[in-house]
Amino acid sequence: MKKYNLIPATILVVIIITLAGCSNTPSEEYYSESDYKTIEKIDTHVHINTADHTLAEQAKTDNFRLITVNVNSPSYPELHTQRDVGSQLRNETDGNVQFLTTISLENWDDEEYWVQSTLQQLEESFEKGAIGVKFWKNIGMEFKNAAGEFVMIDDPQFDPVFEYLAERNIPVLGHIGEPHSCWQPLEEMGVNFIREYYSNHPQYHMYLHPDNPSYDEIIESRNNMLDKNPDLIFIGAHLGSMEWSIEMMRDHLDRYPNMVYDMAHRVTLLQYLTQQDRQGVRQLFLDYPDRFVYSTDIQHHVHSNPDDIRELAERTWRQDWEYFTTDHILMDSEVNDQTFRGLKLPKNVIDHLYRLNAERVFAGF
Ligand SMILES: [Zn+2]
Repeated sequence: MKKYNLIPATILVVIIITLAGCSNTPSEEYYSESDYKTIEKIDTHVHINTADHTLAEQAKTDNFRLITVNVNSPSYPELHTQRDVGSQLRNETDGNVQFLTTISLENWDDEEYWVQSTLQQLEESFEKGAIGVKFWKNIGMEFKNAAGEFVMIDDPQFDPVFEYLAERNIPVLGHIGEPHSCWQPLEEMGVNFIREYYSNHPQYHMYLHPDNPSYDEIIESRNNMLDKNPDLIFIGAHLGSMEWSIEMMRDHLDRYPNMVYDMAHRVTLLQYLTQQDRQGVRQLFLDYPDRFVYSTDIQHHVHSNPDDIRELAERTWRQDWEYFTTDHILMDSEVNDQTFRGLKLPKNVIDHLYRLNAERVFAGF
């Protein structure tokens, strides 16, 4: 027992200072894995294309609210069906699931008719409860006008639509462009799920389509549109297609104060960046705590197995929580076979990422 009395005074001072410095860490400044279910969270980007409540129920269990996003994609149901499903889920879950509507490009070449019918469809969607509008990558990458030219997002024909949305403070979720790797050959892609996606979707693998608009042209068209609409609330889906460069993401946040990023199916890309520059990724969130919304891109279709959906949601949400809140050494086969360390972001940043920013941006929440 006596030896305890022999601790030199200097060491005692160090112990006391250390204890004092720790008085509000780590239990107060950081969340842990065990806080996962107690913290209210929002996943701002999922796709529920069925009236089935599996994902909505799993969300409730895990303390999530959801935004399901309508998309003008050929592999998705008709737009009016997607809208009705979104509206129905919203009503049946007491608003725990909200939805974003989207626009059609049908009759694009009849400008006056297209603008009028688009504004009318938007009006109807908001009456049915939509809290924002999705614009998809077919603009700039796939859809052509009657003259055979790619229609870009800064096309003046979109101007009255964006003006209408900006005036009403209705947020736009813009998936414009693709990951930078989309313009690279498969063997140069560093992330497994990206390589797999373009192997299975060669029509969107722009390396194979050198005559289509380039990455820079698509980003420039997106920026031109934002320059024309400085008041538009814009969510750059999938890290604004700038997931490959911390510097580029920072530059655009500085340049466009009304832009935030979602990270739907891009947490893996953040983890890939974390392998190269963890401090840089962490600092991005610390410097811009109010500019990111958490999102996953989980898809639930009519043909999905509900057990698989439950498992996918629970696993994705928990793994992402561990990545953002702890400094555990992690690995994910969707990224590659290398490890990365969790970001361990402070509580305040987590609260913004997981809920507060979404509540601000999507006023309907
Ligand atoms: Zn999506």
